[in-house]
Amino acid sequence: MVDEKIKQSVIDSTYTRLNDEALAGGYNLNPDTESTKDLVHGLLVNEARYGYPSCPCRLASGKREEDLDIICPCDYRDADVVEFDTCYCGLYVSKPVVEGKKTIGMIPERRPNKESRTQKRPSSIGSALPYTVWRCSVCGYLCARENPPEICPICKARKERFEKFIHGS
Ligand code: SF4
Repeated sequence: MVDEKIKQSVIDSTYTRLNDEALAGGYNLNPDTESTKDLVHGLLVNEARYGYPSCPCRLASGKREEDLDIICPCDYRDADVVEFDTCYCGLYVSKPVVEGKKTIGMIPERRPNKESRTQKRPSSIGSALPYTVWRCSVCGYLCARENPPEICPICKARKERFEKFIHGS
C-alpha cells in the first residue's frame, strides 16, 4: 500500500520548482496558493501511487502508456489555458487571471474518450531531412535531432512526451 502522507516541506519545494519552471517557460501557476498546493499534493500522491504525476483531477489507469497524455503538464493544458484561461484542474492559468483581470471556473474536459485516444495518430510525415523532427506533445515545441531532448526546454515535459513529427532520412 502506498503511503499517501506527503510532507508539507515536499509539497512546498515541489510548488516552488513548478512555479520556477512555469515562469521560465512563460506559464503561470494559479495565484491561489492554497488550492494550488492542494493540487501539487494531488500530483505527489499520484506519483507515489502510480510512479508518475498524473493529473489530480482525472482518473488514471495506472498504466503509464495509457496515461501519458495526462501526466502533468497534460497534453491539453496549453489549449485550455488559451481558450478558458485555465487548465482543467486550475493549476495553470493565463496571465490575465494572475493579474486579476479574469476569473476562472469549471471548464469542459478536452481529453478524448479512451477509444479515440487509442486510435493511431497520423503523427508523422516523410521527409528527406537528415534528422528526425520531434514534437513535444505538451507545448508543440519542435526540434530536429537524432533523439528527443531529455526535458522540453519550454514546458519541461520529459522525453517520453515527444513524438516523431517528421522522420529523418
Ligand atoms: S496541467 Fe493538466 S495534468 Fe496538470 S493539473 Fe492542469 S489539467 Fe491536470
